[in-house]
Amino acid sequence: MFKNYLTEFLDFFLPRFCPGCKSKLTSSENTVCNSCLSKIKLADPEFIKSEYQRKYESKRIISGFVSHYIFEKDKELQHIIHALKYDKKFHIGIFLGECLGKHFKFQFQSWNINLIIPIPLHHLKKAERGFNQSYYIAKGISSQTSIAIKSNVMKRMRFTQSQTTMTLKEREENVEGAFKVRKTDNVKGKNILLVDDVMTTGATINECGKVLLDAGANCIYAATVALADF
Ligand SMILES: [Zn+2]
Repeated sequence: MFKNYLTEFLDFFLPRFCPGCKSKLTSSENTVCNSCLSKIKLADPEFIKSEYQRKYESKRIISGFVSHYIFEKDKELQHIIHALKYDKKFHIGIFLGECLGKHFKFQFQSWNINLIIPIPLHHLKKAERGFNQSYYIAKGISSQTSIAIKSNVMKRMRFTQSQTTMTLKEREENVEGAFKVRKTDNVKGKNILLVDDVMTTGATINECGKVLLDAGANCIYAATVALADF
């Protein structure tokens, strides 16, 4: 009750805005407004399964994959993820991670995940952006599932080019050898959930997973907030 009064009080002086549509949030809305939340397309299990088969199955690296939403160009979710990445609104990452964690809680339990690892950014990109958005998504998942995060287990060695205009082959070459496990003791025998904001070709997740398996991890799973067409 007190929290509601406090939120109302703060909203009056310091209104909060929805990153999806820029409208003022009501005191009962948290981070994203209800109207935007109702418009963001959920990734249904059949589609997730077909994307898993298309992008991961034959490589035999990723044992299971889930994504919460479908990424649509110029729609609410794109604005929300843009605000997270480029306006340094890290609380959006926590919110999206919490939604994902709630949605797939039982799936993660059945996978027996020991550790969540956010896909690392190169330190120069992290310095430029101020933070790794995937870390905050992982934090949200962790708060709902109580699975531990280890964000410094992996290192991104190379400053990879933006992949938006690349073909699958180019993307695979672009990330090849880009990651390194710092201490293999941290991953040996573990079931690991890799976390990222948007999955496109799966090249980055496959490469990260390969490096973790080489370091002795048991099984690698992946979860992203959104699935983009490729
Ligand atoms: Zn909105």
